[in-house]
Amino acid sequence: MSDKWIFLNDRFVKKEEAVVSVYDHGFLYGDGVFEGIRMYSGNVFRLDDHIKRLYESAHSIMLEIPYTKEELNQLIVETLKKNELHDAYIRVVISRGVGDLGLSPFTCHNPGVIIIAEPLALFPKELYESGIEVVSVPSRRNRSDVLSPKVKSLNYLNNILVKIEASLAGASEALMMNDQGYIAEGSGDNVFIIKDGIIKTPPGYIGALEGITRNVIIELAKQQGFDIREDVFTRHDVYTADEVFLTGTAAEVIAVVKVDGRKIGDGQPGEVTKQLLTGFRNAVTKDGTKVYETSHIQVS
Ligand code: PMP
Repeated sequence: MSDKWIFLNDRFVKKEEAVVSVYDHGFLYGDGVFEGIRMYSGNVFRLDDHIKRLYESAHSIMLEIPYTKEELNQLIVETLKKNELHDAYIRVVISRGVGDLGLSPFTCHNPGVIIIAEPLALFPKELYESGIEVVSVPSRRNRSDVLSPKVKSLNYLNNILVKIEASLAGASEALMMNDQGYIAEGSGDNVFIIKDGIIKTPPGYIGALEGITRNVIIELAKQQGFDIREDVFTRHDVYTADEVFLTGTAAEVIAVVKVDGRKIGDGQPGEVTKQLLTGFRNAVTKDGTKVYETSHIQVS
């Protein structure tokens, strides 16, 4: 049996014993919300922002999380400590809970709470140096007036279909357009373009999640004196940009050097992207919640 501990509903259980009912509406209908969070060197990056987004998502779908924000914060910290982690990816899932086979969430009386923390599976370091290739895909982003991208729900089928299309095209990520053909985001990341010194990222209403990494990059870019705007753009604007990059909790800040076979700029990660990645890496160990009293010195 592994020594990995998962927080499940109201207690810690071993990974092998962390199972949920087939009647859980999170499983039956994707009815629930989640967050992906990261800890860097004992620091949970922007934990409060993630918690805020989780509670807002839950409130929007009338799902009451059975813990206060402070309690959930504490449970996340305890999960990290119990698994003796210093660098980790944390997944918090709140499901509607067990009900009957009907759609109604009102048959589910106890929301499920799951916290998983695992050692970090980083993208290969080389990808941050070389940049990645992405493709635009046929599937469109869910319309934001139908299913708001601000709700980080367990229903990720839109994103999964897009991921399949990217993989079939041999690319590591996809660019999704909305129903009007404006670029919305990646399957699990936000997108930025830079042209003539102006940095742009699509506004949330286009169909983009207002990512926490995205917000950090907007703040950083402003601090560094860049002209950064939330604005709509098309595939043509992406193809002809000087630099393109993606942001996300898992992806961090990663340069895109080719889109639909078109080289971006000179085909190398651009200077502004590199500068923002450096700024981001400096922020991640400071800007958040310290899990341990004393800082952890990594011995390699
Ligand atoms: N868009 C989507 C669809 C995502 O799933 C994610 C990952 N949470 C992001 C953007 C990036 O958001 P964040 O920076 O908060 O991880």
